[in-house]
Amino acid sequence: MSSNNTVSSNSELVKRDLKTLWHPCTQMKDHENYPLIPISKAKGVYLEDFEGNRYLDAISSWWVNLLGHSNTGITDAIKNQLDQLQHVIMAGFSHEPAIQLSEKLAEITPGNLEHCFFGENGSSAVEIALKMSFHYWQNIGEKKKTKFINLTNSYHGETLAALAVGDVALYKEVYQPLLMDVITVEGPDCFLREDGESWESHSRKMFQHMEQTLADHAHEACAVIIEPLIQCAGNMRMYHPIYLTLLREACDRHGVHLIADEIAVGFGRTGTLFACEQGNIAPDFICLSKGLTGGYLPLSAVLTHNKVYQAFYDDYDTMKGFLHSHSFTGNPLGCSAALATIDLLEKGQVIEKNIALSQHMASSVAHLKDHPNVAEIRQHGMVLAIEMVKDKASKTPYPWQERRGMRVYEYALKQGALLRPLGNVVYFMPPYVITQQQIDFLADIATQGIDIATAD
Ligand code: PMP
Repeated sequence: MSSNNTVSSNSELVKRDLKTLWHPCTQMKDHENYPLIPISKAKGVYLEDFEGNRYLDAISSWWVNLLGHSNTGITDAIKNQLDQLQHVIMAGFSHEPAIQLSEKLAEITPGNLEHCFFGENGSSAVEIALKMSFHYWQNIGEKKKTKFINLTNSYHGETLAALAVGDVALYKEVYQPLLMDVITVEGPDCFLREDGESWESHSRKMFQHMEQTLADHAHEACAVIIEPLIQCAGNMRMYHPIYLTLLREACDRHGVHLIADEIAVGFGRTGTLFACEQGNIAPDFICLSKGLTGGYLPLSAVLTHNKVYQAFYDDYDTMKGFLHSHSFTGNPLGCSAALATIDLLEKGQVIEKNIALSQHMASSVAHLKDHPNVAEIRQHGMVLAIEMVKDKASKTPYPWQERRGMRVYEYALKQGALLRPLGNVVYFMPPYVITQQQIDFLADIATQGIDIATAD
């Protein structure tokens, strides 16, 4: 409703929005051509604008929503908490939702990650893990360990240190003079495997680069940071879990921490509760956010094991403490949303039920593998990606300036779906409450959208 109590229209809100709002990840001039869509409400997999148009949210509102919009289990938990305690300083004070959530996360994450530090968003979780790892080595007297090792095509957020350990030029290049140096290793991206080569064989082969880098740089390296199984912002490129297994073993052997950024892939996205489980490994630090609260409120967490924690635990004047903070660290409303989300995931056996949904996603678009401009359809669990190319045989990409993905985006919106391709990659990463019929609806739109986008 606008201030004079009349119902707002899309066009009125767009006009007001574009006067003052500066949107994320957007060249604002694009809105001269692409519509901005104000959303009034959402339920399940659907977003609804101010004129009653519905859009199937195929990307879970930037990969955060797990159990649908307006899920009563989560909203009730937030409402109950709202009546009790909205926020409290977490230095010197505590509250039940944060305590319960840290216990729960320690229980469900892989290995013995029994100490939980809360942040507010994914990037802050990455900053926390980087600082903790660095500071750990300082605290135990390994003063030369000051560098981080990352993978090509990785993404870990937009704040400066998170950006530095990422490798997507689109987000990073212009800021390069501001960023710390990192040691970047050629990653296991299986799109780049040779014809006929298996994901496992390619991932094993690419691990040799990591092995060599660890051998050369372990003396100066704090940690290797990775996105387990899927490089989401790096165009949904994927790899085999064997890489995680090999990496864990090598990090142990070389005395380097392993940071698993499960911000996008945690909470069931790849088919297991955490992607690390598929490599049968536990990292030294796990970063969680996005789906942590079911996508309802901003919250993040970094969990680590006791060996790290103990290196900080000392008298104040040793200055070994981790004096990092964010104002909304461990916000009670966010923690309550997270507890409700985890409870619903467990009680509803959601991850088990997702197996049928992910199989259905695969079969719904299987015909596209013969499309002359589709180089690959790849999938890990509830993430499926379709890579459009100019030339199928050589996997030559379309020039990025042609913005083919945006043609799919525009077409999908007209048909009632929010598909937001990354470059030339069309992907489905829907809330887990999607039905098979809704998947079929998306598959039809993607098929037609790809035909339109590749027509000339
Ligand atoms: N790491 C990964 C793997 C991500 O996908 C993202 C967000 N897309 C981030 C970190 C940053 O999270 P946030 O946007 O909440 O800062």
